[in-house]
Amino acid sequence: MSKVIIFCAPSGSGKSTIIGSLMPREELNLAFSVSATTRPPRGQERDGVEYLFLSPEQFRAHIVADDFIEYEEVYADRFYGTLKSQVEKQLAAGQNVVFDVDVHGGMRLKEYFGDRALSLFIQPPSIDALRQRLEGRATDAPEVIRQRLDRAEYELSFAPRFDRIVVNDDLETAKQEAYKAIQEFLS
Ligand code: ADP
Ligand code: 5GP
Repeated sequence: MSKVIIFCAPSGSGKSTIIGSLMPREELNLAFSVSATTRPPRGQERDGVEYLFLSPEQFRAHIVADDFIEYEEVYADRFYGTLKSQVEKQLAAGQNVVFDVDVHGGMRLKEYFGDRALSLFIQPPSIDALRQRLEGRATDAPEVIRQRLDRAEYELSFAPRFDRIVVNDDLETAKQEAYKAIQEFLS
């Protein structure tokens, strides 16, 4: 039976970079769960690839229709959610589904999928390193970076509730650790 891998981390920890290195590994047979969000696309993001970019009205209609496994207002007026239809399609196709969600979403998905899920927390070496990475990524306005750092400490307090913690100090080491944890879980 196909399984699910849940990635959580404060924004800027390197989660997308690590996930991006794992997705092409054919032996893992991974599919990325495309979440819905009301935030605007960032950089080169495309609708339907990184996210389904929805208006607040469209997002609300999905809430009312009970279409989400979970959803969160991660930042003020910025909603993110996992659509049941999206995930069911991928699991039915026999793929192992990878989630990139906030800590509340991660907890809820772990509860929903139980032993079928591996939850991984990607931890930055420090808040200062996180600030440098967000600034270095240069995709967010200073106010957005401040919001993300404000939330980071709160999110870090969730780390012990995850199946595995991967510290992303040296990127290659972190990629290897994540790869090994997933490979073990799937075998
Ligand atoms: P997230 O998806 O967690 O928000 P990203 O993967 O976008 O984070 O990474 C944030 C920034 O930090 C990117 O510019 C990325 O290249 C950089 N980065 C990721 N891992 C490391 C690392 N181990 N050391 C230094 N910079 C890193
Ligand atoms: P970003 O705007 O940087 O892409 O994502 C911001 C935060 O929202 C990240 O912590 C990301 O993991 C989280 N997120 C993305 N999709 C979902 C989702 O479907 N549900 C929840 N709960 N969080 C999500």
